[in-house]
Amino acid sequence: MPQMLDKIRALVGSEGVLTEGANHRTTDGWGAQECQASAIIRPANTAELSEIMKLCHESGQKVVTHGGCTNMTRGCVAGEDELVISLERMTTIEAIDTTNRTMTVQAGVPLQVVQERADANDLFFALDLGARGTATIGGNIATNAGGNQVIRYGMAREQVLGLEVVLADGRILSSMNQMLKNNAGYDLKHLFIGSEGTLGIITRAVLRLRPKMPVCTSALVATDQFSSMAKLLNHMEKSLGGKLSAFETMWQSYYAIACHSSNISNPMRNPISSDMSNNMGKPPLPDSYPFYILIEATGAHQESDSEQFLQALDTALSEGLIIDAVLAESGKQQQAMWAIRDNIPALMSYQPMVLFDVSLPISEMESYLEKMQQNLNAISNNLFVGILGHLGDGNLHVAVQLSEDSTAAKKAVEQAVYAPLEHRGGSISGEHGIGLEKKPYLHFSRNEIEIDVMRQLKQLFDPEHILNYDKVID
Ligand SMILES: Cc1cc2nc3c(=O)[nH]c(=O)nc-3n(C[C@H](O)[C@H](O)[C@H](O)COP(=O)(O)OP(=O)(O)OC[C@H]3O[C@@H](n4cnc5c(N)ncnc54)[C@H](O)[C@@H]3O)c2cc1C
Repeated sequence: MPQMLDKIRALVGSEGVLTEGANHRTTDGWGAQECQASAIIRPANTAELSEIMKLCHESGQKVVTHGGCTNMTRGCVAGEDELVISLERMTTIEAIDTTNRTMTVQAGVPLQVVQERADANDLFFALDLGARGTATIGGNIATNAGGNQVIRYGMAREQVLGLEVVLADGRILSSMNQMLKNNAGYDLKHLFIGSEGTLGIITRAVLRLRPKMPVCTSALVATDQFSSMAKLLNHMEKSLGGKLSAFETMWQSYYAIACHSSNISNPMRNPISSDMSNNMGKPPLPDSYPFYILIEATGAHQESDSEQFLQALDTALSEGLIIDAVLAESGKQQQAMWAIRDNIPALMSYQPMVLFDVSLPISEMESYLEKMQQNLNAISNNLFVGILGHLGDGNLHVAVQLSEDSTAAKKAVEQAVYAPLEHRGGSISGEHGIGLEKKPYLHFSRNEIEIDVMRQLKQLFDPEHILNYDKVID
């Protein structure tokens, strides 16, 4: 390893190789997994990374790519024999094109910086998630992140027009397409989006921007039945005529703790954003209702948009789909509502805990959750279960506290949560990905031939198996 590091230092200079403190870094969104790698390699640009990968490929040196390390899947775990490739010095926004509505960025740019730059140019980047301050655009693309606006704009995949990737052998695959339409043969970028760093290292991207919607109307509402939430979703989509931009659901168990925990235990190096803490004082709605939904619509006309939104809520109230509601009357109140939705770190107080990220058809969700709860009760009647999610996308996050900190307890809970998915056409990962955490359960959601083709792709792109070794598939 020391010889290898000398060679890399010769390529990237001493600023590009960190050995001191490498193992003080954490590798996931909980801040729980320490990095064991002996060094962190920090290329300044694609050309440097290409040379580094040529060296690694020749000598079979395994590498693990790090973006913001906010993943929930142990996707950035690195062992002593691995090197970390961190994109933390590749943070340049290279260009913003307001005519074609694109932004060209290096992969290490934090998501929030992309959002803010788009906003400053009267444009909008349609990807948002709670870890926006720390997560990088490269990590978002590598995980095909979902988040809060999928219902209107789709996942990260939908926001990417072009990609540049350094392959395992150091070749630079440049596919920096700028157009919405380009059917000239295979669209290779899609192979790397969501591949979690196992097929190549994303170095640059051309992002799709949208027109900024100046009007944003939000409300937090409560319902007393799951079926009302599903009906409310259809009602709001229809009534708002395509303006619905978020429909985020929280079960009482999550809402209650998210309202009352101030996020101070947030382990993220650069927490969500300083003014995103729960600054509303008391909860916007009492914490005793069974279900809560944060509804948001964006549009271009203040008066008519607000009127349309209020009218839709009014109808929902009179039809009994909602039982209580509060409208955000300022940007500050909107942020406070989102702070509750984003306060996932509040779940830290229920350690040892597993956070699941299942997806399934909405029509199957209620029976799935009943079966899951029965399975969990069979383990113990006292396990804390916190549920929140992107209901409109069929995606739920389920946090389950373990009865003890042991592999056996974790396995039992995983079985309880995953088994009822299989016959309901569900997935073990709606948006977080597989990493190491969910690898043993991949077969619940992908058939043998799908997994076989994944292996063939891995073999093609990374024959020495040096990229994110053993993650996603064996
Ligand atoms: C509070 C909180 C809220 C969250 N909310 C959501 C949410 O709503 N939706 C959602 O989808 N996720 C969510 N996440 C999970 C996480 O933020 C996303 O997965 C995010 O996209 C990861 O970005 P990152 O830069 O931190 O990637 P990392 O954690 O650094 O890496 C994730 C994976 O991608 C690989 N990788 C990273 N960068 C690159 C690159 N440049 N090239 C190739 N591979 C790379 C890594 O090796 C790893 O396998 C949340 C996390 C937290 C802590």
